[in-house]
Amino acid sequence: MKIKANTNFLSIKETYLFSEIGARVRKYSEEHPEASIIRLGIGDVTLPLNKVVTDAMTKAVSEMGVKDTFRGYPPEYGYDFLREAISSYYKRNNVDIPASDIFVSDGAKSDCGNFPDILGNNEILIPDPVYPVYIDSNTMNGNNINLVKGSIENGFTPMPSDITTGDKPYVIYICSPNNPTGAVYTAEGLKAWVDYALKTGSLIVFDAAYEAFISEDLPRSIFEIEGAGECAIEICSFSKFAGFTGTRCGWTVVPAGLDADGVKLQKLWARRQATKFNGVNYPVQRGAEAALSVEGIKACMEAIDYYRANAKLIADLMTRKGIFFTGGINSPYIWLKCPNDMGSWDFFDMLLNEAQVVGTPGEGFGEAGAGFFRLTSFGSSEATAEAVARLDKLL
Ligand code: PLP
Repeated sequence: MKIKANTNFLSIKETYLFSEIGARVRKYSEEHPEASIIRLGIGDVTLPLNKVVTDAMTKAVSEMGVKDTFRGYPPEYGYDFLREAISSYYKRNNVDIPASDIFVSDGAKSDCGNFPDILGNNEILIPDPVYPVYIDSNTMNGNNINLVKGSIENGFTPMPSDITTGDKPYVIYICSPNNPTGAVYTAEGLKAWVDYALKTGSLIVFDAAYEAFISEDLPRSIFEIEGAGECAIEICSFSKFAGFTGTRCGWTVVPAGLDADGVKLQKLWARRQATKFNGVNYPVQRGAEAALSVEGIKACMEAIDYYRANAKLIADLMTRKGIFFTGGINSPYIWLKCPNDMGSWDFFDMLLNEAQVVGTPGEGFGEAGAGFFRLTSFGSSEATAEAVARLDKLL
């Protein structure tokens, strides 16, 4: 053909992480058919939707089957009832976000991936290690990516002082609580980034997908930080909070006042969504609304508490063994330094061969993840307890 392809896609690093993990686990299972393998590598939730949510969805499905209550295309930015419910959810933390600044979507991944559509070619600043979608989506758009390194020294919450590529206007990605490190920024840490953004004319893209896991007095939203309304957008999700990974719903806050090059970003995002997205289906939005009701939040937090208890079991083991780790308290992830300076894949093989426990090698999330390892709390409590007992003997 004589048409041009977007060859930026060729610059995306192939990741063999999950296929390589799958291949090693398959090989081990074939050679040891009797082995009971415990997977602590999963980033997906495992508990079912709660009844508050399923009741609301069931009712909404019934409405769709009746002429008077049937609904066709949903509004591109979300039904008002859900935008209002999300706005009220922010008020819990004394954050005032008007419903008109909230754009409902089918999840945080889509919004993270699509947001570069409305920006020109910018210098991008991304923490390393982190959720790979930020790098890949900016690579697709041909943007220049600068990494800011997470390390033991900065507790995997890199700060503006860790930037090695010079002070300039960047699109800065911040994920807190972070995937994969579980590290969470303090209010002071986020304030330093907001001040940096205001000083340099940068935009912060804040991914709060794991905010529901925060149990300590730490910011759940970038908009808790003074000045963020002039330099940040926030992407959030029902996936981890309400177990919606398979149901699909999330949102992005684009403050009305934000402008880039004299153009209102909210106007561009509204246009982008209206052109390329036809909204989230009605039953799912009713389920999401129910998740944000008083009873809904209570039921969602029961599931989060279940995962938190698993995280604590793993984190306590690391503390007992004197192994450096981040996460585990305000996050479903435990990010640990592989003991004895082992490489991440050697540690993976050791856990698989000697304890039949599967985790995720850190370098799958960026070069700064080499020598580190991610364990997750999304398994069952029985499996997690058994894995911890096996690791207790091994480490
Ligand atoms: N952001 C982060 C940091 C994630 O780890 C994930 C999923 O694991 C997502 C976003 C995707 O969320 P969603 O299921 O809403 O697309």
